[in-house]
Amino acid sequence: MVVVEGVNKHFGDLHVLKDINLTVGKGDVVVVLGPSGSGKSTLCRTINRLETFESGRILIDGKPLPEEGKALANLRADVGMVFQSFNLFAHKTILQNVTLGPMKVRGMNKAAAEKQALELLDRVGVQHQKDKYPAQLSGGQQQRVAIARSLAMNPKVMLFDEPTSALDPEMINEVLDVMTSLAKEGMTMIVVTHEMGFARRAADRVVFMDEGEIVEQETPEEFFTNAKSARAKDFLSKIL
Ligand code: ADP
Ligand code: MG
Repeated sequence: MVVVEGVNKHFGDLHVLKDINLTVGKGDVVVVLGPSGSGKSTLCRTINRLETFESGRILIDGKPLPEEGKALANLRADVGMVFQSFNLFAHKTILQNVTLGPMKVRGMNKAAAEKQALELLDRVGVQHQKDKYPAQLSGGQQQRVAIARSLAMNPKVMLFDEPTSALDPEMINEVLDVMTSLAKEGMTMIVVTHEMGFARRAADRVVFMDEGEIVEQETPEEFFTNAKSARAKDFLSKIL
């Protein structure tokens, strides 16, 4: 579903992605771990074409990333992304937040978009908030709406970049539970997180990044009990 081949990217002199190779099969859940500044967010943003890159190639469902225009809008719809900050549309209701994309990009009519939105809001447990505005919801609720909004585009893959990092502790699990059920339902997912419990429970594979490189890729079981590189061992010693 996602193929990243030999991708390199710089920010000025900083070599932020170094020959990245990553293949994510349909229905796979890949958790990306690594210290702050290792390039995890840049990798997600590059896969979603929010960043350009200098060499290599990225395929989504077998097709290369388009440069711009309608093709790019469709690609963005195929690759859902949920960020640390919930970035819902502040002046739209919860329901409108979830119907807007499908109507604009997917050409869905309003009735169909609303029906789908209500189902998705129900699935993430916030259907009763549908007429409120984002600021009236808790962080955990807003993040669940952000997930519903992405799902409304019927994406082929979902990218999550530290989706629970900005949440109060008591709200983290309500978001992780939604992500865990998505994973169980077979969604293809790339998840950057510091939630090691989620990584152990939901990941098919852990990708460990450091200084712009993928240093290790293996099952969570293997990574957490038997990491090979000194860099991964050092990272684990600090967080576990
Ligand atoms: P992570 O998500 O693993 O913390 P990032 O991908 O955000 O890491 O950042 C990787 C490196 O790239 C860091 O050194 C960061 O300071 C740098 N960086 C990220 N975005 C930009 C940018 N827009 N311009 C310049 N440097 C950036
Ligand atoms: Mg980041």
